[in-house]
Amino acid sequence: MTTVIDGDAVAKDLRDELAARVETLKESGVQPGLATVLMSEDPASETYVSMKQRDCEELGIESIHVEIDPEKPAEGLYGVIDDLNADPNVNGILVQLPVPDHVDKREVLRRIDPAKDVDGFHPENVGRLVAGNPRFKPCTPHGVEYLLDDAGVELDGADAVIVGRSDIVGKPMAHLLLQSDATVTVAHSHTDDLAAKTRDADVVVAAAGVPELVDGSMLTEGTAVVDVGVNRVDADNEKGYELVGDVEYESAKEKADVITPVPGGVGPMTRAMLLYNTVKAASSQEDVPVDL
Ligand code: NDP
Repeated sequence: MTTVIDGDAVAKDLRDELAARVETLKESGVQPGLATVLMSEDPASETYVSMKQRDCEELGIESIHVEIDPEKPAEGLYGVIDDLNADPNVNGILVQLPVPDHVDKREVLRRIDPAKDVDGFHPENVGRLVAGNPRFKPCTPHGVEYLLDDAGVELDGADAVIVGRSDIVGKPMAHLLLQSDATVTVAHSHTDDLAAKTRDADVVVAAAGVPELVDGSMLTEGTAVVDVGVNRVDADNEKGYELVGDVEYESAKEKADVITPVPGGVGPMTRAMLLYNTVKAASSQEDVPVDL
């Protein structure tokens, strides 16, 4: 019997726990605040940012939003980051990616105060993650780790295959799984015979951005399958498209012991983990322990 992980439900429970932590902070006179910075007119980026703002408001986290004209020079964005770094009301800073081509993304990530870097992308925080001493775990892999733990998936000694090696998902995921004592293979677009690798795996995390790349024929009975992918594909419906993951759900579900759906799997956890990191940032900056 396959367990379908309900990411919405797990995320809701986590948000409830975080709301209690926010209360603890407020009782100690600390109002947590997250700044979102948008330098883009991309509708998807606008949607992501407004969802993050709404999530904050629901939890009692103050949301500060800054929009910068994407035509303006990069220095405008750098100045905003410097100001937010210096603002004591701001505990976390999130610059919505991607930034325009004329902006140096690495400089953006380097410029954010590592103590406020709730995405976990600053080189210092990447280094700490790799060294096994993370300050902020990047939201998506942290959400995957949390879902696997919540579903009781044994990682110690498990063979895990991650499909994708991006800086925001695949690579940090590999480090988190290694730290849970899994044996980790990271596959990518140059990987030879992906199916042979996924068939040998106890845990598959698909994060390639390729619709339905991993199907049931590539899995062995009893695998834990986590689908990070979110892909728009044409569909004969009102919107003209639907969202599918990187896993071909129906055939994979036949083989999987546990599986995450798309939507309603990893997505809500990514959002919840941003709140987690913001609460953690406020707690450590203000020296009010909240047990996270
Ligand atoms: P990237 O495009 O940055 O990285 C994709 C990775 O997949 C690359 O490492 C690439 O290899 C690899 N890849 C591409 N094609 C194949 C293939 N055929 N076989 C094996 N590996 C392949 O994507 P992201 O990591 O940013 O995102 C991955 C997916 O997850 C996307 O669908 C994205 O929308 C989704 N996502 C979902 C989130 C959520 O909250 N649910 C959050 C973040 C992302 P190479 O390095 O060789 O190019």
